[in-house]
Amino acid sequence: MYIYNSLSRKKELFVPNDPNLVKMYTCGPTVYHYAHIGNLRSYIMEDVLEKYIRFEGYPLKRVMNITDVGHLASDADTGEDKMLKGAKREHKTVMEIAGYYTDAFFSDCEKLNIKRPDVVEPATNCINEYINIITNLLEKGYAYLSGGNVYFDTSKLDRYYVFNDFTEEDLAVGVREGVEEDSNKRNKNDFVLWFTKSKFEDQALKWDSPWGVGYPGWHIECSGISMKHLGEHLDIHCGGIDNAFPHHTNEIAQSESFLGHKWCNYWFHVHHLNDETGKMSKSKGEFLTVSLLEEKGYDPVCYRFFCLQSHYRKNLVFSFQNLDNAVTAYNKLIAKIAALNPDDKSPIDEDKIKEWRSEFEKGMDNDLNTSLAITSLYTILKSDANDATKLKALNDFDYVLSLELLKHAEALRSKAKEEEAQQERDPEIDALVMQRTEAKKAKNYQEADRIRDLLLERGIKIIDTPYGSKWARI
Ligand code: AMP
Ligand code: ZN
Repeated sequence: MYIYNSLSRKKELFVPNDPNLVKMYTCGPTVYHYAHIGNLRSYIMEDVLEKYIRFEGYPLKRVMNITDVGHLASDADTGEDKMLKGAKREHKTVMEIAGYYTDAFFSDCEKLNIKRPDVVEPATNCINEYINIITNLLEKGYAYLSGGNVYFDTSKLDRYYVFNDFTEEDLAVGVREGVEEDSNKRNKNDFVLWFTKSKFEDQALKWDSPWGVGYPGWHIECSGISMKHLGEHLDIHCGGIDNAFPHHTNEIAQSESFLGHKWCNYWFHVHHLNDETGKMSKSKGEFLTVSLLEEKGYDPVCYRFFCLQSHYRKNLVFSFQNLDNAVTAYNKLIAKIAALNPDDKSPIDEDKIKEWRSEFEKGMDNDLNTSLAITSLYTILKSDANDATKLKALNDFDYVLSLELLKHAEALRSKAKEEEAQQERDPEIDALVMQRTEAKKAKNYQEADRIRDLLLERGIKIIDTPYGSKWARI
């Protein structure tokens, strides 16, 4: 598989450190509110990546943190702790907020068929790990104490901006508009590893540390949790593109200074879901959630399909019209699968499956081109192979896509059977409908139209469905 690596800014052949266990880390949600469907786009695409690696035969261990402390309103260590903000908003404790929104996050994931990572670790569980790394960074001179906080000294690195060659000026965004400078910092991009002095004295969660009672910065948690569960060498680190700077840049700075060697080989960044006015974010007030989509009558799996139709490295614009188009395409696909015979017992044509698999892989191997992978489903459906073979291949590939193809097709079939059972019967009309079907099959459209018009004159309309024609009185 070739995968775009933000580190080299190139598509690279994916070669894990140890093919017997691929190690993957994902930045998890900050659980101060519901996830918006933009956040979930990132998790859907990361889920596809994980499943595709497994599909290709590699055992894999995936770890995700839950940010329940330390993520301040600005990514640049200023502003109020997001968790505290959430607790105030809802008149609850920080831990109550964290518990509630962690559950809500995994319930959304389940609806979108996003597999739960093998390890899910709340940031508040690993304080000792952070203290250990920070102590080491202080000893080696990569960190300093100032104004009661511990900072990472970015001037100690040969190269800090690992993902791009942006100038300091451009990247002052991490330390973005409206954010006051922290006068304790020696360099503009230095970041907090441990806070003991915060403007917010009511910070709810605090721990004892060699530098005083306080709490960890946001970046250190991902380094600490990742190393705790995945060791010193990571294959893939994932997150939304906004995490590349400063979050991932800072993770690399502190992890590699601590370890003394390269930490992670591949950085996978999912680009943003935008609405028509720009990037979707929670600070904008109202935001779109999975529950809201459900309230509006959408099956969450259609949102997954919508995401898979476009490439993860392109911004994707969300509108209800775009989602409706995805729903139409998804329903057509399901209807085609529903028209296959699930009871077909013909022998499986393994050569055919191999041929389709290589088309599916051609798309996925090219930097996870999921829309091409979806196109390969239509190749299967158009083929003259037997239905048993087609259904097997669709089921195999759906392990990666997780679009519930066979389940939804089965539901459609049952619905059709129910409708069939409710269909009014009239031997003469039934016979004419049958004759029209035969005429259509024989491509005798003139005859088919003649029968349809004849029935119309008698006040009967024909309704064509993917699994046959029904009739109803007008
Ligand atoms: P957060 O809960 O804010 O820590 O974000 C969770 C994940 O969602 C991170 O990987 C972010 O980079 C990602 N993310 C945030 N906004 C968007 C967006 N509009 N589109 C896609 N991913 C996003
Ligand atoms: Zn992270």
